[in-house]
Amino acid sequence: MKIITAIILVLIIGSCNEMTNFAEDTELTGKERDLPRNMVYSYDCIKDSGSLSDVLGKADNIIGKLTTFNIEVTDQEQVEFGEQFMKEAIENKNFIIDSTDAVNARLDTILANLVKKRVKPTGITYKIYPLHDTATINAYTVGGKIFITKAMINKCTSSDQLYAIIGHEIGHNEKGHIKNGIKQMKASKKFFGEWGDMFFLAKKLLTGSFNHKNELEADYYGLDLTWKLGYDICSIRSFWDDMAKGEGHNTTLDFLRTHPHSDTRSKCLVNHIERNFKVECK
Ligand SMILES: [Zn+2]
Repeated sequence: MKIITAIILVLIIGSCNEMTNFAEDTELTGKERDLPRNMVYSYDCIKDSGSLSDVLGKADNIIGKLTTFNIEVTDQEQVEFGEQFMKEAIENKNFIIDSTDAVNARLDTILANLVKKRVKPTGITYKIYPLHDTATINAYTVGGKIFITKAMINKCTSSDQLYAIIGHEIGHNEKGHIKNGIKQMKASKKFFGEWGDMFFLAKKLLTGSFNHKNELEADYYGLDLTWKLGYDICSIRSFWDDMAKGEGHNTTLDFLRTHPHSDTRSKCLVNHIERNFKVECK
């Protein structure tokens, strides 16, 4: 199963901005509230981006559905996959987990609060780990395991942003993005033999499932949970606006992007918030 570590079945969110110190606010800052009725998840904002990765993503999704329609992946399997992934990532020193860091309690609280707010939850069990990585601003998830780098935590300017980010990672699990990735890996194994022989194809199949729509869906999902907990859903705007600084559009590199550009993401989220929550983000 070495390939699991090598394959990037992790969904990367991006980064927050500016280093600030958190207040020790592991309690809810706002008042819990219900979601508005008739929520709409719109993807129009990325429809005409013309990104080649979107076209490829769609093609891969179709192929993925065709090859995996009779393959089942249970929640338990996803959790086991996550455990195996973590074991290998630690063994191979890809991940160094800061298990004694004080931030663990804070992350556990945020995760527990978010997980409680799921509607029709999967049977996936969640656990969050801070990674001793102060250089890479990222968060990853697989099979209910969420890994967040110290750089990402330090970059976030508010709990509101951390809630949205961790909620995003939960979204990838709850919305079946991980499940689909594993299904496609299973299909590869079925057709082509052992994992080890299939590295490149499996990687291609997996990355095909990380399209812009998945990323936005996870963003929307994370915001829904953040809203329900009473946190500021607009704070994510400054997060992406800041990320967009210095992030030029390059059509050649767009081909490789698995995530929407940060400025597109900001616009999509502002539209989403305005449409569904009737809140205008300043
Ligand atoms: Zn993501």
